[in-house]
Amino acid sequence: MSIGQTKMTNYNNKDRIETDIIGWFEEVAEESVDVQRQTLRRILELNHGVEYLKKWIGDIRIQEMDDNEMESIYASLVPLASHVDLEPFTQRIADGDTTPLLTQQPITNLSLSSGTTEGRQKFVPFTQHSSQTTLQIFKLAAAYRSRIYPIRGGGRILEFIYSSKQCETKGGVIVGTATTHYYASEEFKIKQQQTQSFTCSTREVISCGDYKQSTYCHLLLGLYFSHEVEFVTSTFAYSIVQAFRSFEEMWKELCHDIREGTLSSRINIAKVQKAVLGTTQPNPELASRIQSVCEKLEKEDWFSIIPKLWPNAKYVYSIMTGSMQPYLTKLRHYSGELPLVSADYGSTESWIGVNVDPKTPPEKVTFAVIPTFSYFEFIPLYRHKSNHNYQNGNINSTNYDFIEGDPVPLSQVKTGQQYEVVLTTFTGLYRYRLGDVVEVEGFFKNTPKLNFICRRNLILTVNIDKNTEKDLQLVVERGSQILSKSKQAELVDFTSHANVATQPGHYVIYWEIKGEIDEKVLDECCRDMDASFVDHGYVVSRRTKSIGPLELCIVEKGTFKKILEYYIGNGAALSQFKTPRCTGNKVLLKILNVCTIKRFYSTAYG
Ligand code: AMP
Repeated sequence: MSIGQTKMTNYNNKDRIETDIIGWFEEVAEESVDVQRQTLRRILELNHGVEYLKKWIGDIRIQEMDDNEMESIYASLVPLASHVDLEPFTQRIADGDTTPLLTQQPITNLSLSSGTTEGRQKFVPFTQHSSQTTLQIFKLAAAYRSRIYPIRGGGRILEFIYSSKQCETKGGVIVGTATTHYYASEEFKIKQQQTQSFTCSTREVISCGDYKQSTYCHLLLGLYFSHEVEFVTSTFAYSIVQAFRSFEEMWKELCHDIREGTLSSRINIAKVQKAVLGTTQPNPELASRIQSVCEKLEKEDWFSIIPKLWPNAKYVYSIMTGSMQPYLTKLRHYSGELPLVSADYGSTESWIGVNVDPKTPPEKVTFAVIPTFSYFEFIPLYRHKSNHNYQNGNINSTNYDFIEGDPVPLSQVKTGQQYEVVLTTFTGLYRYRLGDVVEVEGFFKNTPKLNFICRRNLILTVNIDKNTEKDLQLVVERGSQILSKSKQAELVDFTSHANVATQPGHYVIYWEIKGEIDEKVLDECCRDMDASFVDHGYVVSRRTKSIGPLELCIVEKGTFKKILEYYIGNGAALSQFKTPRCTGNKVLLKILNVCTIKRFYSTAYG
């Protein structure tokens, strides 16, 4: 077969794979209720007799019961669990216990979930099923994107992806982040072949373990292949923003390396040097073109850099929802006219939903639950409001942030209701509370479409007030609008803390900003944010002065990079990093307080 014919066959294959995978998903979405029960049955069959399940259901073979009975007996015998309930098991696995604890198949890999949201990392079982579902959702999402934004088969992707170091526990189990395991898996290669899109960077660059060196090489190779790049991506939007912020500082060095075919002394890992230098050659023409574009872009604050340097890119693709939403302004700035396509919803524990409508703006995107990946339950959540009507479910417990109803299976979720997601996975998690709050926005066929709202328990509270991550995000958005109106400064990143060390307690919001701004404007931002918390408990407490004025701390440039580095130093990977939006972590608070250069106190509420 000639090369031309091979290429043609690959493209035909690509089309066939796309049609097949969409056809498959639409079928399982249509039959989602039955498919969910089959999924539960299969998980219980595969893992029958494992120690964790035996503890709760003994020898009863509930997977042999009829669908309704199986679902309800499972939910009545196996309790909801959180990570602490699982920890003794994952620890035994890490220590080398090979008896069937959570799954019948031995677990050889453990993932570290980013933990940046809760301040500490967690071990989560990782099996081949995890890589296979990752491949499956990536192919499915690519197929939906390709319907709206077709890309050239055989093209390249500028991917800002990063592995952390993989290490072995004393029991011989390999530990790394989920993305690290995935990039090291066969499935990562297969995805490139089947979607006919190839990452610009070599494996050595992705897995070098030093995010600064990886970023430089991603940019260098991305520029080197700039005419072939079909789209720009990362797992979470933070990484793209972080990469282009670095680009602003390193572009001259990058141009120099392209012109001369050299590699900056920033790169000191031998296998990365070898891999990159083996790929690139001197290209003075390309270097001159990049230089003249950058000289102009520098004067325009790098607006629209992505399409200007990657003229064939069709879109920018990444997770832009939840805690990534605050980076949208900057991402839009860098992307200019290019569409932003919001990537799918998942976690180290399991993939959950796919974006079937890539044209939807990130602020409105929803995720259609994939009913074959895990068995999903949903705990109805109600806000603490005196006038709330709780007719839609049995209220069984009051938690810190929300009032909870009884968990329901996927077949019973209601549009407009918020829920916490509960997972039963092929990797040995049973009725595991994920800690994410979602809202059902509607249905795709018969599977719910979820809107990601926020993480639970990321909450600002001093006394009777309760503000979630989402509430804080809205308030900060208000404040930062005042900043951006001035056109002189922009918000780089933020976090918060409920300070109860002094009386009365009060909220502290930390901002890193780029640019110079009048103190009067910052005063206004502070006052406006304080007045924008609508939670009844907060408003009442502020009026009665049982919560003190909101404090806005401006931290020096680079503070949030220090926070990133603190997490990376503790084994997190840039690919999965999320700035904690509310923290009580002493190390973080120390960094933030040492780096505070200005403080403002709200005058709202007199
Ligand atoms: P990790 O702990 O690194 O596995 O991150 C998983 C968490 O990231 C999820 O539980 C969510 O809180 C968040 N996340 C993942 N995908 C999305 C998404 N598409 N939108 C918003 N948040 C997401």
